[in-house]
Amino acid sequence: MPSSTEAVKIHHLVKAPENTPGAIRKRESWDADELATVYTTPECLPDGTICQATTVIFRTKGCVWWWNSGCTFCGYFNDVRDDVTYDNLMAQWQSAKDQTNDFEGSEVIKVYTSGTFFEDRENPPEWQEAILRETNERGLRLIVEARAEMCTPEKMSWVANLHPGCVVAIGLEAMDDEVLKFHCNKGFSTKQWHKAIETLRANELEVKTYLLFKPPFMSEGDALKHCIEWIREVGPLSDEVSVNPMNIQRGTIVERLFRHREYRPPWLWSLVEMIRQVDSVPGRLIVHPTAAGRVRGAHNCGKCDKHVAAAIERYSVSGDLEEFAGLTCECEKIWATEIELDCTIPSPFGVGLDRRMPVEESLMSP
Ligand code: SF4
Ligand SMILES: [Zn+2]
Repeated sequence: MPSSTEAVKIHHLVKAPENTPGAIRKRESWDADELATVYTTPECLPDGTICQATTVIFRTKGCVWWWNSGCTFCGYFNDVRDDVTYDNLMAQWQSAKDQTNDFEGSEVIKVYTSGTFFEDRENPPEWQEAILRETNERGLRLIVEARAEMCTPEKMSWVANLHPGCVVAIGLEAMDDEVLKFHCNKGFSTKQWHKAIETLRANELEVKTYLLFKPPFMSEGDALKHCIEWIREVGPLSDEVSVNPMNIQRGTIVERLFRHREYRPPWLWSLVEMIRQVDSVPGRLIVHPTAAGRVRGAHNCGKCDKHVAAAIERYSVSGDLEEFAGLTCECEKIWATEIELDCTIPSPFGVGLDRRMPVEESLMSP
């Protein structure tokens, strides 16, 4: 319909109302000296050695892209405060050390900031420098996250100087410009990602790439087919590929679809099938299904979720397909039929049920 007012993206109408009094009150109820969280997980080094990693998730000012627009699935803004200072961030770092006995037993530290670690509008440069220096001096392998367009030659040479060989993880999500634009609202293109990779390589920094399994407005069958292609394309260009199966976060476009019964998070069986098909691709593949087995995370029928999710987690450390040997459940047939129908019936949201439920209940109107 013609309209005299300026066009508004549907995303901006739907995404969480960041500056309502309620949203600000909630955000500012967090203590700015306290971390979002810190935890340890098993990790595999590039040479195959198994070790321990500590993940530190800071409470920061949050991602500049989210404040401007934001990805359709990202609920990280739930953990941010817009007045976090250098002192707060240093207090959070100290709190991470206190809670882990100074990173006892960990060789890898993942510093996650709900945005780009080395973006100066998000995090004070002095704090970035302190983290890069300290982790380098202590011989810890550091992993930080970034958006592709932030990996400029100047900033990357600065990072490489302070922590040579540091790992930069970029949330590419999809190796497809249409998906990036219309499904993810990612705000950068595959071309910018290629450029970022060149810059990281030129500075001898390591490249980790995140892909998103089942972005919104995509069927299960399409998600499986596309993600396999994307891993084949980005795998040879990355040191490590990490596939994040969609989980529904609060206040996002995906949550709106989910609540309207128009989106089901991926099946765990799809992840197993994807891993089987891309196992031979060069580079290391990691799959960590957040909230696995719950309706807001990747899930199966409810009976087999625990075993399938555990096998996927084990594969991410061992890289051995034998982890899936003998895994089976009745729901595998329902999943296989869904994939087959998604690949033959032109139904953009897919034919699958939006919720886990008994078949007879699914036949009733919602
Ligand atoms: S770039 Fe990352 S942190 Fe920023 S909105 Fe997108 S997913 Fe969230
Ligand atoms: Zn099952």
